[in-house]
Amino acid sequence: MDIAVIRGDGIGPEIVNEALNILNIAAKKFNLNFNYKDVYMGGCAIDKFGEPLPDESVKACLASDAVLLGAVGGPKWDSQPPENRPEKGLLKLRNALGVYANIRPARMFNALKAACPLRDDIAAKGIDFIVVRELTGGIYFGEHFINEAKDFARDVMTYSELEIKRIAKTAFETARIRNKKVTSVDKANVLASSRIWRQIVSEMRDKDYSDIELNHMYVDNAAMQIVKDPSQFDVILTENMFGDILSDEASQITGSIGLIPSASLGADNTPWLYEPIHGSAPDIAGQDKANPIGTILAAAMMLRYSFKLEEAACAIEQAVNKILNDGWRTGDIFDAAHDDKDKLLGCSQMAKVIGDAI
Ligand code: NAD
Repeated sequence: MDIAVIRGDGIGPEIVNEALNILNIAAKKFNLNFNYKDVYMGGCAIDKFGEPLPDESVKACLASDAVLLGAVGGPKWDSQPPENRPEKGLLKLRNALGVYANIRPARMFNALKAACPLRDDIAAKGIDFIVVRELTGGIYFGEHFINEAKDFARDVMTYSELEIKRIAKTAFETARIRNKKVTSVDKANVLASSRIWRQIVSEMRDKDYSDIELNHMYVDNAAMQIVKDPSQFDVILTENMFGDILSDEASQITGSIGLIPSASLGADNTPWLYEPIHGSAPDIAGQDKANPIGTILAAAMMLRYSFKLEEAACAIEQAVNKILNDGWRTGDIFDAAHDDKDKLLGCSQMAKVIGDAI
């Protein structure tokens, strides 16, 4: 299995190195063979090649079986022209890989309930759902127009049957290996694209996924339900802009940004992209303070989705769960009122205890 590895900037190299250590431990335990290829993207690529994602990097990613990314960007490159900023590399990469399905788990670890900003009785019911967001269509990719007088603007939201079907398939199949429930979020009382979305998703459920429970929810209600009773959700399926907003809301209610992975999936014969949801955290870069768990869980998602190695993926996830239950913490999830100061770890030690628990 060939994995393109993009360490990126800021804390990127620290967290990716630890995720690779964990992959190597999993490889040993489950008799797997991973080959890593270093790929430059982001500020480090600007420094070396003058651009955030050289064609060589795209080629190396396309030639791999999966891509593991840390994070890119930082103040050093903030004065770059917009078309040459580190984040442009990421957009170009997503485009080149054709990854249209963004999968973001919103899961609260039992050991970290105190970090949940929701009321205790709501948190007590648990949070464990996945947002499946369409990533390459909708209003972000429609026509954007501003007239010369700058007193009129238009952004166009479009969706085709093909785009809806392929993302709905991802959601139904994700639900099939979980609790078999999909909530499709739209604004069908106002938007035409939502009306065909709702119709196509319903038809697919009746034809191919009758084992899955499907309900439809307006996006305004979904935003409310996520904070009112997140335990009702298993898989949320939604279009690009709604998913952008709801997935941030969902990650926020589970605790630290440093814990959450994401996967971006595309066609079956292309490499998919795995990364933590946070950025390059320049404020703590190079200090061994970063939480590596988001990246380690992204590596576990890679094993599950790209390589169908469910057992190895679960082993990593269970190890993370165990060490959190045992009280080990990095600074971002350390709560002086509840946690033991002697169990406060840096990035590399945190990965070490996870590795030992696998
Ligand atoms: P950020 O996510 O990097 O950091 C926000 C806060 O969370 C900071 O206080 C940081 O220290 C903390 N944090 C983030 N990840 C952490 C971790 N693993 N462990 C502990 N603490 C963690 O967001 P930002 O500060 O807005 O952005 C910094 C840079 O990252 C910018 O250049 C931005 O453009 C870039 N960025 C990149 C990506 C990406 O590569 N996918 C995503 C978002 C932001």
